[in-house]
Amino acid sequence: MTVELGTARAIQAAVARGDVSAREVARDALERADARSDLGAFLHLDEDRVLAAADRVDTARSKGLTLGALAGVPVAIKDNLCERGVPTTCASRILQGFESFYDAHALTRLGAAGGVSFGRANMDEFAMGSSGENSSVKPTLNPWDRSRVPGGSSSGSAVAVASGIVPLSLGSDTGGSIRQPAAFCGVVGLKPTWGRVSRRGLVAFASSLDQIGPFAVDVKDAALAFEAIAGHDPDDSTSSNRGVPSLDASLAAAEQSGMKGLRVGVPEESSAEGLDPEVARATERALALLEAAGAQLVPVSLPLLPWAIDTYYVIASAEASSNLARFDGVRYGWRCEDAKGVVDLLERTRTLGFGPEVRRRIMLGTWVLSAGYFDAYYGQAQRVRTKFRQDFERAFSLCDVILTPTTPSPAFRLGERIDDPLSMYLADIFTIPANLAGLPAMSVPVAHSSGGLPIGVQLVADAFEEPRLFQAAAVLERERGPLPALGR
Ligand code: GLN
Repeated sequence: MTVELGTARAIQAAVARGDVSAREVARDALERADARSDLGAFLHLDEDRVLAAADRVDTARSKGLTLGALAGVPVAIKDNLCERGVPTTCASRILQGFESFYDAHALTRLGAAGGVSFGRANMDEFAMGSSGENSSVKPTLNPWDRSRVPGGSSSGSAVAVASGIVPLSLGSDTGGSIRQPAAFCGVVGLKPTWGRVSRRGLVAFASSLDQIGPFAVDVKDAALAFEAIAGHDPDDSTSSNRGVPSLDASLAAAEQSGMKGLRVGVPEESSAEGLDPEVARATERALALLEAAGAQLVPVSLPLLPWAIDTYYVIASAEASSNLARFDGVRYGWRCEDAKGVVDLLERTRTLGFGPEVRRRIMLGTWVLSAGYFDAYYGQAQRVRTKFRQDFERAFSLCDVILTPTTPSPAFRLGERIDDPLSMYLADIFTIPANLAGLPAMSVPVAHSSGGLPIGVQLVADAFEEPRLFQAAAVLERERGPLPALGR
């Protein structure tokens, strides 16, 4: 039997009622993964392990135990989230063969909610990239047009959901790696407030920017996943101990009162030059829909937006150069075997083990932290970062959520930007500011281009204001109406 259960909610309800077993759900997802192996969404998918996790849910049900909110729901996991007993490689040669001895906190929480961990999703190496092409194993293809990139770095997580293999996945977002691929693939992608979700077990790229979050087919499923993974973790001192609000009230408010009483900030800078006209139109329409649903639109200003990318690449690379120092061929993963002596071992392992983009970041990060340049680059970037925070503070004194495009254009072609890092980096111009300021942000699909590619818009809220973010996102999703479905 083929189970056509589009959302995580539908799966959970059907499993809880006993209409279908978690094993059947898992089996169908495995079949779909097999049928769509052309997309390159997974680096590792262990059938027995997936079925065993599903069986545990079925056993719990047969014993009459209360089932969690994600009972029986298969969830794809980005390959930079540690998972015990399977490879965790960050799609890098240097971690080939590495297995973690513990589960990331988010995975433990997912399991506690009944979620079935479903394979290791492909990604840009160490989460550095915006196209999925930096995976050392294989690129991931966009299911809407296989000659196009799915976005990155959480390429496999986005494609696993967009292609209907699984309804939910987890990714990580340092500068846009959840929202940008969500926009390119036509799914919902959420980056929670920094500190809302524990980062324990997320292989660190830039610790002050990294955050784990879900991809989902719709806003309600994203809410379920968020509620499952958010909350304090005593083993991550940077995770917040604020209570996690239930999002039911926000979703109900979206249904009952739409956007009444909410102000939507429109940054004047977001109609920047270089914005694709179809993306600009979709953004205008999204604003008009929110206004018609009762929102008041207010102009706000993010004057530093043109400097977001420069600031991000100094800070993120500086942190990456430090975080990635641990991969030396001695303690983890792959090592160059025919090295002569320690220095040669380190040099050759790191030169051969990391791909070109990762090496570029390590060199850039080392440079901006070096004695003579520290203040001119790193110090200056930190000052600009503080100003970004202040600009958002000012904006949020005038509005409740901010709306911008998620990306300047729809998905670009495979190979188009790979030799031009600067044009690749530009894909994140709208998503980076929320990371610099630690704010929650979500990409919601709103339209399709004339070429049939998905277009998303981004909502940003003040820190820990996920409830407002979800209210606005749910209204937008309802008002935009149904979008074209992917032909299978
Ligand atoms: N594309 C950005 C980069 O390459 C963001 C990556 C991310 O969010 N992990 O750094």
